[in-house]
Amino acid sequence: MNLSDIFCQDRAVDTLQRAFTAQRIPHAHIFSGPQGVGKFTTARCWGKLLLCKSPIKKNNFADSCGKCDSCRSFESDSHPDFHHIYKELIRYTKDSQNKNKTPVELPIDVIREFVIEKVQIKPIFSAAKVFVVSEAEKLNKESQNALLKTLEEPPDKSFIVLLCTKLDNLLPTTRSRCQIVGFGPVSEEKIIAHLSAAGINKQEAKFLARLTAGSIGQAELFTKFEPSFYGIKKQLLERLSGSRLSDTVDFAQWISSTAAQLTDSWCELTPGISKSDISRQAKKIFVQMFISALNDAMKQGIVEPAEMVNFDQPQQIKIIAQKYEPEKCAELIEDCFKTSRFIDASVNEKLIFEHLLLNFTDSAIIKI
Ligand SMILES: [Zn+2]
Repeated sequence: MNLSDIFCQDRAVDTLQRAFTAQRIPHAHIFSGPQGVGKFTTARCWGKLLLCKSPIKKNNFADSCGKCDSCRSFESDSHPDFHHIYKELIRYTKDSQNKNKTPVELPIDVIREFVIEKVQIKPIFSAAKVFVVSEAEKLNKESQNALLKTLEEPPDKSFIVLLCTKLDNLLPTTRSRCQIVGFGPVSEEKIIAHLSAAGINKQEAKFLARLTAGSIGQAELFTKFEPSFYGIKKQLLERLSGSRLSDTVDFAQWISSTAAQLTDSWCELTPGISKSDISRQAKKIFVQMFISALNDAMKQGIVEPAEMVNFDQPQQIKIIAQKYEPEKCAELIEDCFKTSRFIDASVNEKLIFEHLLLNFTDSAIIKI
């Protein structure tokens, strides 16, 4: 894959193109935008171009040649001058106490050993070196301060890209040393076209495009889960529209066990990422589905069902809207956000979902 194959981030690609063509390439970039919109894929293609030994120009677009030994090595994921940095690398740092850690933040040991030390070493294969740091929003203050000098004066021909979903989490001193390239959500049409081309049914593709709010990476990942994520969401709405107090424990157990199945599938699809991180994300997807159903229910009668996230289950949304007044929906959405915060704080997830579902069932009973 080359930079010209990035089909959903024209503005970001254009910024990089102009810098490359003018040969005024900043040593440090921040790719800023939501999760799953192509930041890492673009950083890889950008790295491939920076490392390519004979870049080409096609239709006025500079790109990697795809043929030189650097490009071939890159494609086989074995380029020694391309470094991907992520927090789970803590296991491979020199301090043996780090071996079993599952870090929440991007620790200084990783930054020191995999960026600051490596950036000083001469390139092995190409004329340059590229460092791509995932989840830069998790760089703690200590790590950012350690990185400042490298960002300001990186050795010649070293390029650093920080991938970041929350720009505010980075210190002003870090931000000011990098050129910021913005990545926006991907349009619904592009996500549908992309997933349809991979054989996903249009209805599922449209739902995923809306649920993930334009995160093409997340939407694509969700199509690969076993059991089917789309099947789970349909069951969830069925159960939600029919839930009664007596179902609460059973429903909460179903969510916990289904989230555990999704976690296993997710871990298989994305090896190397910490299981506790993925488990948290899988639970939060359930919360996200609750929020989408409540948001749709609030819009019942105001917008056409076809415009909703859950456009494919209009009956269920109608029932939910009948059960909960808009004010109650807003309250329940607030409860959902609280639940998300509990998940981040690693509170016992079964109790969290029981608690959340009790809020739903209580109001249903009061209304009856
Ligand atoms: Zn090449």
